[in-house]
Amino acid sequence: MAESGTLHDAFIDELRDTYDAEKQLTKALPKLAKAASNPKLRQAFESHLEETQGQIARLEQVFESLDEKARGKHCDGIAGIIEEGKSIMEEDFDETTMDACLIAAGQRAEHYEMAAYGTLIAWSEAMGHTEATRLLQQNLNEEKAADKKLSSLAEGGINQSAAEGAHPEEEELVGAASGAKRGSAKAGRR
Ligand code: ZN
Ligand code: FE
Ligand code: FE
Repeated sequence: MAESGTLHDAFIDELRDTYDAEKQLTKALPKLAKAASNPKLRQAFESHLEETQGQIARLEQVFESLDEKARGKHCDGIAGIIEEGKSIMEEDFDETTMDACLIAAGQRAEHYEMAAYGTLIAWSEAMGHTEATRLLQQNLNEEKAADKKLSSLAEGGINQSAAEGAHPEEEELVGAASGAKRGSAKAGRR
């Protein structure tokens, strides 16, 4: 590489990392969609999968605008986040709790991507790569919207319905003697 050790090289490196992260996500998102019970949540993962395919195409345009070959470099960060998501899916949670957990896993991925695009945009802008900046900004906007969508599903009912089943012992107690101290139900939980 001609200009090794420059910010431009670091930029290309981060682009390769992000390109790989997006590709890993195209394999993970269908699993999240499949595990979701809430149809709106499943739909959100499915439509973000489509967006992610568009983001990969956009990153290819970014590489092209910089006269670089589009190639990925294994992203350990997103691999770890995906791994954690897989562990969650193996848990034996009730349906809405699982949905809440899938949202949590999805949002970890979105925030990771937002951090990556934030840096890429700032560097691209600083180096005057106008076309790259414009394309990267489009990807960032989609990640932000996906994150907001997940928040709105969580806060628009999924968390609440999961919370309703969260303390079954307590409900029994409240049923048996209304006005029982809430703390007493906690004794039996880990
Ligand atoms: Zn540059
Ligand atoms: Fe993405
Ligand atoms: Fe995303």
